[in-house]
Amino acid sequence: KYSTDVAIENPVDPPVEVKHTQLLINGQFVDAASGKSFPTLDPRTGDVIAHVAEGDAEDINRAVAAARKAFDEGPWPKMTAYERQRILLRFADLIEKHNDELAALETWDNGKPYEQSAKLEVPMLTRLMRYYAGWADKIHGLTVPADGPYHVQTLHEPIGVAGQVIPWNFPLLMFGWKVGPALACGNTIVLKTAEQTPLSAIFAANLLHEAGLPPGVLNVISGFGPAAGAALASHMDVDKFAFTGSTKTGQFVHELASRSNLKPVTSELGGKSPFIVCEDADIDKAVELAHYALFFNQGQCCCAGSRTFVHERVYDEFVEKSKALALKRAVGDPFLEGIEQGPQVSNAQFEKILKYIKSGVESGATLEAGGERLGNKGYYIKPTVFSNVKVFLLVIITSCIFPQRLRYGYNAKDEIFGPVQSIFKYKDLDEVIRRANATHYGLAAGVFTENLDTANTLTRALRAGSVWVNCFNIFDATIPMGGYKMSGHGREKGIYSLENYLQVKAVVTPLKNPAW
Ligand code: NAD
Repeated sequence: KYSTDVAIENPVDPPVEVKHTQLLINGQFVDAASGKSFPTLDPRTGDVIAHVAEGDAEDINRAVAAARKAFDEGPWPKMTAYERQRILLRFADLIEKHNDELAALETWDNGKPYEQSAKLEVPMLTRLMRYYAGWADKIHGLTVPADGPYHVQTLHEPIGVAGQVIPWNFPLLMFGWKVGPALACGNTIVLKTAEQTPLSAIFAANLLHEAGLPPGVLNVISGFGPAAGAALASHMDVDKFAFTGSTKTGQFVHELASRSNLKPVTSELGGKSPFIVCEDADIDKAVELAHYALFFNQGQCCCAGSRTFVHERVYDEFVEKSKALALKRAVGDPFLEGIEQGPQVSNAQFEKILKYIKSGVESGATLEAGGERLGNKGYYIKPTVFSNVKVFLLVIITSCIFPQRLRYGYNAKDEIFGPVQSIFKYKDLDEVIRRANATHYGLAAGVFTENLDTANTLTRALRAGSVWVNCFNIFDATIPMGGYKMSGHGREKGIYSLENYLQVKAVVTPLKNPAW
């Protein structure tokens, strides 16, 4: 659809300037204690957008000290819930006001289509902040009917200083999923952004201060995982840790948290989600939804429907139509109107995805579309479709013949995190349930059928935190999201996220009893 000369070789100027590149500690923009900075790159070109302060353990110490003081001395946890609510509502208004600026920063740093940032993701952040503002004055405990002459009540108190580490695939939304519930419950925060995408969260955090957030309540550190993220996970003065990213790093931060002060951890990790197309499905609609389930956000979604299971009776037609749709996908400069897919976030992700594709071809899967980079500049990959993917055979072939490719072997079980759709054939429901669940992950699943009995059978049998029936990627603020198995612990969004940021205190008082 788009000439790569115009759309990729000559990228358009982003409609925004970078204003903030420092760390935000105690309400002030400051340089890293080391004085170091690192470049954040434009995925369209690999060029430097800006140099950003590089926080490390010393900056984490400074930020945690500020958050600790703001928690212990107030005013934030001691303010009325209504005052906190009003600040969060003002923040939501400011996000709305700066919608396009935030969207442009997000697209520039991450590569996702500007229309997606401006019309979907920033509005979702606004909605999310209003949702959690609504909760601020509705968090209350219980009176408990204990045996004996006691008045027993539970107080739901903020947990304290929250450490939060977010990834690069949805930098603003992940910022919102983390800070929204934590602030509504009265906590203070140190948040580390992903090194690939530091810009939008600093901008948003500045807006929160403009909305009236007291200094020290939200501290934002840009920097790398091993230096800054690990220091936060293992900090003795952090009361709770929340993480989104890979399962491998998730395992590591759970360990750091437990070995330091046993702080509770919630984590949202990887996935390899099944998308099941039943034999009764309307094929055209199923093809479109399966395409969206995988290719949305350049395939960089933790819940991407990356294992498309199609009933044998409709398999060939489904593959033909999926190939045609992939070939039509508009890939190009994400700032251009009508673009559906931009570049991958970084060279590391780009290289990793191409290696997976190569090993998929070598191990016998049929490459129906894509399979290579698009253009010669930036991190663009053609929408790729594989059919005839046979998991167990491929695991064996990849491990025996290409032992050097074990790390990147195309076994259709690893999270590729890119625009690569793998289509499998199945015969009956029992088989597809078994195969869909045959993974260490359990984040999401999609079911496409007109038959209510089939839908009910599958939704109950699939071991995943979200099951979308005849829809996919529904991320409403009210709906909990989280994983079974190695896809993580706990739930974010909705009422469930509040539990992550609250302590329950039981208060017992004797009743004045004349019989005593
Ligand atoms: P990652 O897990 O390494 O990074 C995610 C976040 O964790 C970043 O902020 C990073 O700085 C931080 N981090 C890294 N090492 C850390 C450490 N030792 N201690 C504390 N924090 C640390 O993920 P990645 O390398 O950016 O991407 C690798 C793969 O992870 C992707 O290909 C994809 O499969 C997966 N991923 C999943 C999600 C998700 O939403 N679940 C998001 C991003 C990446």
